[in-house]
Amino acid sequence: MKINAYAAMVPKGKLEPFSYESGELGAEQVDIKVEYCSICHSDLSMINNDWGMTQYPIVPGHEVVGEVVAAGTAVKNVKIGDKVGLGWLSASCMSCQECMSGEHHLCASNESTIVGRHGGFADYVRGHWSWAIPLPKEIDMSKAGPLLCGGITVFNPIILAGVKPTDRVGVIGIGGLGHMALKFLKHWGCEVIAFSSNPDKKEQILEMGASKVVNSKDPKELESIAGSLSFILNTTNVSLNWDSYLTTLAPKGKFHTVGAVLEPMAIPAFSLIMGEKSVGGSPLGSPALTKTMLDFCVRHNIYPTVEEFPMDKVNEAIKHLEDGNARFRLVLKN
Ligand code: NAP
Ligand code: ZN
Repeated sequence: MKINAYAAMVPKGKLEPFSYESGELGAEQVDIKVEYCSICHSDLSMINNDWGMTQYPIVPGHEVVGEVVAAGTAVKNVKIGDKVGLGWLSASCMSCQECMSGEHHLCASNESTIVGRHGGFADYVRGHWSWAIPLPKEIDMSKAGPLLCGGITVFNPIILAGVKPTDRVGVIGIGGLGHMALKFLKHWGCEVIAFSSNPDKKEQILEMGASKVVNSKDPKELESIAGSLSFILNTTNVSLNWDSYLTTLAPKGKFHTVGAVLEPMAIPAFSLIMGEKSVGGSPLGSPALTKTMLDFCVRHNIYPTVEEFPMDKVNEAIKHLEDGNARFRLVLKN
């Protein structure tokens, strides 16, 4: 099958129309007709080769929702005609300790949707059935895409950390991931402090349920909430004063990053030792947890706040995100 897509040919290049042959469908693979694909900051990082692993041409796009149009002979769980979502991962080995434990997102042989293969800024995209996540019937397709990467990436840490409804928590960076984290934690029942560097977002952040907005770059402002948070989720990809965030944690508090900060994060040992605090990170979440999250979203009507662009305006959308103007996730429509 010929697939029509948008690709960057060089690091930091504009996306150009690009087509490729999909080749023979594997026995365990499905082809998905892309209805919507949203833009994650990781797409930008991959286009720019920030992580040194991009292969060009690259077709970005790993927050896909659409319909299964072809299924190999050994596909399980989904069938032609089903609405599914595809996120950062497009295959796992299905036999290692992690896969056998239901933690496919931790499989060492994982295939990423846009690493060494082509993603969802296209009319079709391919993946292993295990990562073609069935969507609840009632879901709003136009807003569901961002849940497949950004959504599950911030949902998983809430489960991992055992966040309780009575907790006071913080989210750093209210962009695509951060605003979804804020909505999840608010529905969890938590009091949520938002750390943002952009005063223009303040009103919307409060409307989304934050009890307070603190300047993420001002250690003095952080002092006002010292020792009060049980959990902090970082979604920024830049270096901040991490030690001053550790001082906002209550004893036994957990600091968790999903933001892909490139520089080493300076964490003074004594900031951890004195209050039995801990620091961690995680990649997305398992297929089963993704399904659970989607059901949770439908049940509570939790959706990302999105701005929609037609797929052929992909370069405008990318510039909008790069300029820091996205409110809060950009969705491309086919
Ligand atoms: P995004 O929409 O661009 O949001 C990032 C937010 O970080 C911005 O909205 C901004 O929030 C804050 N920020 C950006 N530059 C800043 C600066 N110079 N100083 C202070 N704050 C700044 O990006 P995203 O799509 O949410 O992705 C966030 C990060 O998560 C990226 O690094 C991405 O690669 C990573 N990611 C990781 C995983 C994973 O599996 N772990 C999955 C998906 C994405 P404010 O305007 O509120 O300050
Ligand atoms: Zn992503």
